[in-house]
Amino acid sequence: MDQKIQSLPAQKNIALVAHDGKKAALKLWCEKHKAILSKHTLYGTGTTGHLIEKTTGLDVIQLLSGPMGGDQQLGAKIAEHEIHVLVFFWDPLASQPHDPDVKALLRLAAVWNIPVACNEVSADMLLSSPLMDIELERTLPDYEKYLATRQISL
Ligand code: PGA
Repeated sequence: MDQKIQSLPAQKNIALVAHDGKKAALKLWCEKHKAILSKHTLYGTGTTGHLIEKTTGLDVIQLLSGPMGGDQQLGAKIAEHEIHVLVFFWDPLASQPHDPDVKALLRLAAVWNIPVACNEVSADMLLSSPLMDIELERTLPDYEKYLATRQISL
């Protein structure tokens, strides 16, 4: 499929997700970066979002819990261009009942070409990038052009 260019805004909508074994790490990371995070809009899966809001005082738009559909909600928001950055501390040492949803979330982040960090060091680097505070261009699939040029034979 052809690609088109679309920008991510200077003020970004950041999704925060952590599996149970990684929630303490994400909480510490949010505390460390509270000043920067407060300049953006935060979304979180249910338990993660609740924990971050309660412990850091940051406002977090809370979706359903991950295993109850929260990962899929975030995936839909990525596809609709509402989420611009994904910080997802998934646990490589524990199996998850909603593993298909986890894979789907990471897949959609790749499809729509948004920045993703899956551990503290990557998230540190992402948040310290000068690109966090400016509008930046990304390429993404040009589905409208695909539809317009596709021969549909019924
Ligand atoms: P939770 O979901 O924040 O509701 O625990 C996280 C996840 O997707 O596993």
